[in-house]
Amino acid sequence: MEATREQLEQWDREHIWHPFTPMQTYAAERPLIVQRAEGCMLQDLDGKWYIDGVSSLWCNVHGHRVPELDEAIRSQLDQVAHSTLLGVSNVPAIKLARKLVELAPSGLDHVFFSDSGATAVEVALKMAFQFWRQCPVPRPKKTKYLALSRAYHGDTLGDVSLGGVEHFHALFAPLLFQTIRAPSPYCYRCPLGLERRTCQVDCARALEDLVRTHREELAAVVVEPLVQGAAGMIVAPEGFLRRVREVTAANEVLLIADEVAVGIGRTGTLFACEQEGVVPDFLCVAKGLTGGYLPLAATLTTGEVYRAFLGRPEENRTFFHGHTYTGNPLGAAVALATLERMEHCGVLAGVAERAALLRRHLDRIAELPCVGDVRQKGLMAGIELVADRGTKQPFPAAARTGHAVCKLARAHGALLRPLGDVVVVMPPLAIDLSLLDRLGEIVHDSFREVCSPR
Ligand SMILES: *Cc1c(COP(=O)(O)O)cnc(C)c1O
Repeated sequence: MEATREQLEQWDREHIWHPFTPMQTYAAERPLIVQRAEGCMLQDLDGKWYIDGVSSLWCNVHGHRVPELDEAIRSQLDQVAHSTLLGVSNVPAIKLARKLVELAPSGLDHVFFSDSGATAVEVALKMAFQFWRQCPVPRPKKTKYLALSRAYHGDTLGDVSLGGVEHFHALFAPLLFQTIRAPSPYCYRCPLGLERRTCQVDCARALEDLVRTHREELAAVVVEPLVQGAAGMIVAPEGFLRRVREVTAANEVLLIADEVAVGIGRTGTLFACEQEGVVPDFLCVAKGLTGGYLPLAATLTTGEVYRAFLGRPEENRTFFHGHTYTGNPLGAAVALATLERMEHCGVLAGVAERAALLRRHLDRIAELPCVGDVRQKGLMAGIELVADRGTKQPFPAAARTGHAVCKLARAHGALLRPLGDVVVVMPPLAIDLSLLDRLGEIVHDSFREVCSPR
């Protein structure tokens, strides 16, 4: 028997514990339950349509129900849905690994599959640690990591140890390893009290000093290239990433590039590292990898790292890490189709035009009295609300102003999700220009209503 809408709403409240969701508030309101999608639109159980304004949590690329992607899964389903990569291989995983190596910055020629962004970063952390024990001249004192303030790299305890989002991560401090912290390149609220127009990217210099000071104990530096996503869409000044690469290379410290959010075309190039000519030692991809269809992630690394793990089994140089669904054939098949569509249908080339249109809307939104800053890289944008533009005074957290903007947007027909008082706009890369235009209008109107309540 089909469940009624009322039953579904009740069972959702009674049984689903939603991630990153204050459940008491959630359960007090009517839930939005998605039942289907078409292109870049999602439909709820009442039949109301919404623009997917945050790409279903930053992962959708080509829209929903894309015939080629659906077909890639269906035809793989006729072969095999899942078999393991532990000591055995499968056809789509092999093809995808080869494709990723072909597309990634050169030198990253080994691929370790897992199933989420969190595991992709966790894998890189453990590989870097083990590398320094097993490399030709072992450096067992290299056991620490450097990450940025406000960093977000996923929710496993290793990733949380890297994390710098106070209200997500502080509570878990007793469980975490210690991370060396460099300032975030947050120009709007510069941690060094400088102005972007006149600074010399001194935050990069602070990071360089820390790397030099701690070079003997640092296994790796972990960064989100170009944009710190969950931090509030903080766009780093040009050259910041290149300087991180230069200082790590010069001081024998590995560089882990977490491209979980910025990778797969989001910032205008397939990988964000390309924009500064950077080749990291580890490149982590997830969210957009399957076009937002299935959970699959990859950690790419170099031959140098890979070779440190070779040896006879009894030498115990093996990487003892894996996940049951590692390299899942359905996920790999749809990831391949996603990457092919990216190349062949001009989706990547279309990002610039869409980003320019989004920019025009952001410029207009930036004029509103409660907007302090707008930040954008490609089709990744954040709009920061402030109570006072002059002093940059935030709204009280309890006012949930970002949430209020998103609630209005929902009523107007767009699904958004804020990061505190930063409202994220991150539509699928392939969104139609006319739909993006409508999304921009909805975001503008929602902000205007919050900025000047009647
Ligand atoms: C989302 C995200 C992660 C975690 O990915 P999950 O698939 O949610 O585990 C890691 N790093 C960055 C930069 C992210 O944006």
